[in-house]
Amino acid sequence: MKFKKGDLVLIIAGKDKGRTGKIIKSIPKELKILVEGINLKKKHVRPRREGEKGQVVDIPAALDISNVKIICPKCGKATRIGYTIDKDTKNRICKKCKQII
Ligand SMILES: [Zn+2]
Repeated sequence: MKFKKGDLVLIIAGKDKGRTGKIIKSIPKELKILVEGINLKKKHVRPRREGEKGQVVDIPAALDISNVKIICPKCGKATRIGYTIDKDTKNRICKKCKQII
């Protein structure tokens, strides 16, 4: 899984195409991520107590990782992720500026 929580991503497909957001959860098993404020789905919440009103809240639905590109925190460009191996450590690098991200 190339993406992790806290990464900033650019949406490249779907209804939120062109928007950016921060990953709030990654689901490596399904190759999906949840991005803050992106791909929102309406969810009805039932009132918890009597006399309270039910509400409709927007919650982000999982996005396929093929629909996003990471935004490099070093050069600020939407990029692909590469890896370098330094001894036993695997580092993620930006394919554009080659910096470890
Ligand atoms: Zn970069």
